[in-house]
Amino acid sequence: MSTKLKIAIQKSGRLYDDSVKLLKDCGIGLKNGVNKLKTEADNFPMEIYFLRDDDIPQYVEDAVADIGIVGENVLFEKNKKVEVVEVLGFGKCRLSVAVGRGENYDGVGYLNGKRIATTYPSLVREFLRKNNVNAEIHEISGSVEIAPGIGLAHAIVDLVSSGSTLFMNGLKEVETVLSSQAVLVQNPALDSPRRMILEKFLFRVRSVKKARNNKYILLNAPNEKLSEIIALLPGMKSPTVLPLAEAGWSSVHSVLNEDDFWDIIERLKAAGAQGILVVPIEKMVI
Ligand code: ATP
Ligand code: ZN
Repeated sequence: MSTKLKIAIQKSGRLYDDSVKLLKDCGIGLKNGVNKLKTEADNFPMEIYFLRDDDIPQYVEDAVADIGIVGENVLFEKNKKVEVVEVLGFGKCRLSVAVGRGENYDGVGYLNGKRIATTYPSLVREFLRKNNVNAEIHEISGSVEIAPGIGLAHAIVDLVSSGSTLFMNGLKEVETVLSSQAVLVQNPALDSPRRMILEKFLFRVRSVKKARNNKYILLNAPNEKLSEIIALLPGMKSPTVLPLAEAGWSSVHSVLNEDDFWDIIERLKAAGAQGILVVPIEKMVI
């Protein structure tokens, strides 16, 4: 049997959809149902294991899986011997300290002598040590946000994205312990056939990531404005300029980064660009 790279992804939950989408965008389809422990990839030498996210670092350290997709929050809490190969740009959240909304919070010193409920004891211990705070860590396995309300703790450390769960429980976010996103991790001792498959996979992942951050832009410009408009476009090399059927006009094509996107569009319009089209890029191989 030929070598396959084993990847562990979350079985269900917040990372599942984006993990499967990343594989799909890399041209890796999943065979039949996903309601099992593992499945084969359609057209890539890969096997996909569906696991609880908390177990992924351990499975990758033990080489049950060769690589895995997991949140940095879980990765750093578990502290297993795995290597981060690529940050993936999804699953973004913060691990934050929250206290009762009515509390007079005046800095980390507030936490001295307090009781903090969390499912992330190692990360909290490290945070307290760095900030010279002496507090009691109370590890619980879930529903951390209700701990202050029922008198179990004075503060909590939990994952936050919008903050609405905190709000509904009468809490306010006061410190960030860690900003987290999903990462691709690998077992450090992959053999060379597996390393080669990983390289191939990574090449695709990077192309997909690049494409997600960039848009293809097409616009029409009067020829006398061309040089001004071209100066606004960063492009991969230089933009493509084609004559339009209407004399005196050209069509300009280029690639724009998501970060400065709106800013550049506004300046293009102001410079005389018309009929601006912005199109998603599926893959970007450079
Ligand atoms: P499992 O059953 O796999 O243990 P879980 O309940 O621990 O699932 P989820 O709530 O699905 O986990 O979250 C998985 C990961 O998604 C988190 O560890 C974190 O990296 C990321 N995440 C992104 N946004 C949030 C958020 N708002 N709240 C919690 N986790 C988030
Ligand atoms: Zn979990």
